[in-house]
Amino acid sequence: MLAARLHGNRDLRVEDVPEPDAVAPGHVRVRPQWCGICGTDLHEYAHGPLYTPATDLPQVIGHEFSAVVDEVGLGVTTLRPGDRVAVLPHVFCGTCYYCIRGRQGLCVNLKLAGVTWPWGGLAEQAVVPASSVVPLPDEVSFEQGAVLEPLGTVVHGVERSGLRPGDNVLVTGAGPIGQLAVLVAAAGGAGAIFVSEPQQARRRMAERNGAVAVFDPASCDVSAEVAERTRGLGADCAIECSGSQAGLDACVASVRRAATVAVIALHLGDRTVRPEGWVWRDLTVAGVWSFKIWDLARILAQIAAGGLPAERVVTSRIAMRDIVPKGIERLADPAGDQVKILVSASQAGDAR
Ligand SMILES: [Zn+2]
Ligand SMILES: [Zn+2]
Repeated sequence: MLAARLHGNRDLRVEDVPEPDAVAPGHVRVRPQWCGICGTDLHEYAHGPLYTPATDLPQVIGHEFSAVVDEVGLGVTTLRPGDRVAVLPHVFCGTCYYCIRGRQGLCVNLKLAGVTWPWGGLAEQAVVPASSVVPLPDEVSFEQGAVLEPLGTVVHGVERSGLRPGDNVLVTGAGPIGQLAVLVAAAGGAGAIFVSEPQQARRRMAERNGAVAVFDPASCDVSAEVAERTRGLGADCAIECSGSQAGLDACVASVRRAATVAVIALHLGDRTVRPEGWVWRDLTVAGVWSFKIWDLARILAQIAAGGLPAERVVTSRIAMRDIVPKGIERLADPAGDQVKILVSASQAGDAR
């Protein structure tokens, strides 16, 4: 079968690999449909592999995907061949402190499909535990299903920000996570949604997704713009999706007192912060990791009801053989216009 495997730094090959062996008890074999390319994939390709141990290479990549169940192992009673599903990358133990408290994303024995598990979404087949598989309602498309994993993290992040209906919110960075944050904030009844993003195409997209004002941080003072639009008060919360010092600073500077700044972006390397300012303004700065898997059912219900058009972040659909030139290289281009690219192992992509 065809799979995209990372062999080393800047060495990603679409190649023929052996199909999975017999399905172990409690596991399922699936046929991936659409798989999103994530910032982590770009990073592993360009600067890694960092998360995949050298001994596990070559690694089948892809951790945001929808699929059709092909075969279920012994003891799997909740899934049947033919089921349409989203596959979560989280392979969790189910018995540690966090797992038994419903925080499987924080599992101390966590493995991630497409990163530290033998199979991933960029292949014609994958084997994963049944506990990593979420059935899709009929109204939810495979494309929407492929966005469920980052979307779950964003929903968790927006909730961590304390956003309530009517609250004004600043989102910094309008890549896939920032765009999803705009959609989730809008779906959650936010008041004014402000977005700071240097790329014009991404600012325009954020406006289409529900932002009432967008700012180019290279040419304006974001916190002053937010203050002007909130009668000098500042935003009620902020969501950091840029991974940059400037984005983090803009969030802290733009919120009112007793607000929360939720940091979803992975900040690689050190940042300069001034916690004294957090103290005298009674701020909460919250790190956001993963989500509670039990929350996915209500997220899917909101998509099914038409209230959360997650597919709007998708800017291209490509075939697996084109993943490097039409996927990874386009996303890595600082002047590029892509946000979320979906990759298909089985279907031909389009040229968009
Ligand atoms: Zn990801
Ligand atoms: Zn665990």
